[in-house]
Amino acid sequence: MNSDKDLSYILNHLGEERERYFNAVSPPIIQSSNFAFPDLASFRNAIKDELENTIYTRGANPTVNILRKKLAALESTEDALVLGSGAAAIAAAVIANVSAGDHIVCVESPYSWTYTLLTKFLPRFGVTADFVDGRDVEAIEKAILPNTKILFLESPTTFYFDLQDLEKCAGIARKHGLKTIIDNSYSSPYFQNPAKFGIDIVVHSATKYINGHSDVVAGVICASTEDIRKIFNIEYMTLGAIISPHDAALMMRGLRTLPIRMQRSHDSALKVVKWLAKHPKVEKVLFPFHESFGQQDLVQKQMRGAGGLFSFFLKSKERQDAEDFFHVLKAFLFAVSWGGHESLIIPTVAFHGIEGRPNPDTPVNMFRIYIGLEDPDYLIADLAQALDRI
Ligand SMILES: *Cc1c(COP(=O)(O)O)cnc(C)c1O
Repeated sequence: MNSDKDLSYILNHLGEERERYFNAVSPPIIQSSNFAFPDLASFRNAIKDELENTIYTRGANPTVNILRKKLAALESTEDALVLGSGAAAIAAAVIANVSAGDHIVCVESPYSWTYTLLTKFLPRFGVTADFVDGRDVEAIEKAILPNTKILFLESPTTFYFDLQDLEKCAGIARKHGLKTIIDNSYSSPYFQNPAKFGIDIVVHSATKYINGHSDVVAGVICASTEDIRKIFNIEYMTLGAIISPHDAALMMRGLRTLPIRMQRSHDSALKVVKWLAKHPKVEKVLFPFHESFGQQDLVQKQMRGAGGLFSFFLKSKERQDAEDFFHVLKAFLFAVSWGGHESLIIPTVAFHGIEGRPNPDTPVNMFRIYIGLEDPDYLIADLAQALDRI
């Protein structure tokens, strides 16, 4: 009870100093850009540490600070930063740990804008990257060069759900003096905590499960006090990709129900996956917690659940069948992103041939589905009627 390790305590009480604001149950939204000082001495004292003292909201803000404490505790790290998007969190964490002439090893098929950061943005500043199959620990070690500084992971990846062995990757990185960064958006802090396997920096697109209501774009960086301070002092303060106090309050509201939403999405997804896997018109399903998924040992070791995201393939490889199936679905919205209340589908052909959107080499019969909070039987009935059309 009442410890940073107790999930109920973290979500409902940690960081909330209610006696300071009229014992309000929900914390106030401190919608203020700056904070006044009574005298020179207190200002001089505060300005020495912009992370710990509220001076200006591009640095620290009391509403955002509550979230920082909760997120750090959820990931079992010493501290956390909340940013204006997952992309900002990834960029800040990566840029903080490289200089001109350095090299990054990254898993194959990372999130598309991570790929753009590593292949288009950083090369302009003399930083290069190589991409390796993350399932192959030896391949990761072989890709490390004398100037490598970061091992960037995303486990599981968000189209094929390939896992990396976090403990082994952390060990290799330590041996070679690299910083490990992982994009943990797929699992959320509820189902996977990479820091417990020795990963240094855990980033999230909080737009997905952490906020969970498809109404805020935000990102998170969780790491040691030292790593967070380093990122805060340069990248966080200069890039300025902060979250507004209002969005932070929305995110906190979303976070309260994280365990309930995650479990519901996971259970419903598993039910839909099992139904799809048995359907005669379906070739295969990719979901870490389905028995057909390859890396079972690693799934059991690292993850406590998966949430609602999976991919599946129609048996028919005809483009017309893929489009007919997709167009008659009624319960699934056609949209990017995931992690909200609403179920979604993306036919991966939607990305085919689009310049500047590096995506895995996806076949026409592949779909990515996100299962939200609806009744799974309602979703299955919709898939059933759509599969009947082809
Ligand atoms: C959405 C997403 C991101 C980017 O997050 P934004 O909040 O959209 O900037 C990064 N990684 C993964 C795996 C994502 O799904």
